[in-house]
Amino acid sequence: MTDCLFCKIIAGEIPSDIVYRDDEMLVFKDIAPKAPVHLLAIPLRHIENLDDLDGDAQALLGRMLGKVSKIAHDAGLAEGYRVITNTNAGGGQEVYHLHFHILGDVRQATWAGM
Ligand code: 5GP
Ligand code: ZN
Repeated sequence: MTDCLFCKIIAGEIPSDIVYRDDEMLVFKDIAPKAPVHLLAIPLRHIENLDDLDGDAQALLGRMLGKVSKIAHDAGLAEGYRVITNTNAGGGQEVYHLHFHILGDVRQATWAGM
């Protein structure tokens, strides 16, 4: 997807602060953090959101969620964290490449409703 912001981050065309990468997912710091730790975990494959899942994408998201615990703990979130994915306009989605927000220390979060 040439016009997708997160595909450009995956391709390295837009710089980002990457904390984890493997052959199917990338995790980087949110540019406008809503909590003391705010990471975005995205599939390398372009998937729009939860309304855009085939069987392979469902399995991929399962594997991604399975890796979140280690990524969060490595980011210093041993005390706990929150994982969110926004879907379409009614869910507050702004970037249409599926991403899991990983938020740490949400007691200090500024994202109303989260
Ligand atoms: P959404 O509202 O789609 O669930 O979340 C999109 C997230 O992407 C927002 O939290 C926003 O701050 C973040 N974001 C938008 N543009 C960029 C960017 O260029 N780089 C990074 N690292 N994060 C971005
Ligand atoms: Zn994309």
